[in-house]
Amino acid sequence: MALEFPEDTALASRYVKQALPMMIKNKIAPNPCNFALWYAYVSNRDLLLNKKLDTTLKEKGTCPEVVSRDLFKKHVIKEEIALQKNLQDSLSNVVQELVGNVNNTKNQTNTYNQYLETSLTEILADPDPIHVQETVKNLIKTTKDASHLANDFQSQLQSAEEEIAALKQQLDQREEDAYLDALTKVGNRRAFDRRLVELFQTTDNDTTLVLVDLDHFKKLNDTYGHLMGDKVLQGVAKVMQKACPDNALAARYGGEEFAFLIQGNADIGANIAEHTRQLLGKLLLRKKSDGQVIDNITASFGVVQRNDGEYPEQLIERADKALYQAKEAGRNRVKMAA
Ligand code: GH3
Ligand code: MG
Ligand code: MG
Repeated sequence: MALEFPEDTALASRYVKQALPMMIKNKIAPNPCNFALWYAYVSNRDLLLNKKLDTTLKEKGTCPEVVSRDLFKKHVIKEEIALQKNLQDSLSNVVQELVGNVNNTKNQTNTYNQYLETSLTEILADPDPIHVQETVKNLIKTTKDASHLANDFQSQLQSAEEEIAALKQQLDQREEDAYLDALTKVGNRRAFDRRLVELFQTTDNDTTLVLVDLDHFKKLNDTYGHLMGDKVLQGVAKVMQKACPDNALAARYGGEEFAFLIQGNADIGANIAEHTRQLLGKLLLRKKSDGQVIDNITASFGVVQRNDGEYPEQLIERADKALYQAKEAGRNRVKMAA
């Protein structure tokens, strides 16, 4: 599991406010990994992490990037982060808050600076207490340093924010890809499973499944070669996309089997199946090497609407039976489940 940020905004904001000065003080670069690390630190969610960070700071006066990365991997994310958008979303929010906080800090520091300079002018007008002058000069220097630090920190923050936005975009793309079949670009089995669960959770019986199995596909592979078989699968997937209404999902269920998941009744499912069957009848692919035409691509369809209280597995089993009947009856046809 990736790190979660279960806190409400007020608490998260408090943690951020605690983390920020610590990061500045310890010269920690404001990158996503360090934010997560220091956020985890101030929220005391992992005492071992806090102990390791305390020790590192004590020994080195900062936390070197290599140590941060290691602690991040071991304590903040314990597994793959690839699909954990949560983390990036949360980080993004945290960084946005940080930018706001740093702006405030900067403004406050500038005001403080001006105030001190005014004070110095006043004190200089009365040159009596020399040690006071010295003290105030030092104070100004310290404050200016702090101001520069805050400025630097702010620009680093801004690039961190951009970095996170880019990362987030990549993650969104990766998540999309994770639900697409690489060969045919329709939904994959994961997408199918996800939609099935969604439909079972959000609709009553208004869920229809159409299973689609290409006819004699083994023979097609044997005759034209596996590569051509792949092309046919791509062509079939395109046809399915074309026949698929917006509120339905076309997916590759496995091998040469596809499926439609439809929010609607069996009649709607049967219409989509029949439409697909007819479009497949018009599908014509040409073999590049010798121009040979493949135009005998057919499929069989099993259509089933969810029954009262039925589980997904039972729905799939009935669709399978209907599909089997379509095959038995001579293929290239649509069968409704009993
Ligand atoms: P039926 O009409 O009874 O469905 O006959 P079939 O030949 O389609 O059924 P069978 O299950 O015997 O064969 C399916 C074939 O689909 C076998 C397998 O090699 C082929 N296949 C599965 N996945 C792929 C793939 O990704 N690419 C290609 N080219 N072929 C595939
Ligand atoms: Mg099959
Ligand atoms: Mg088949």
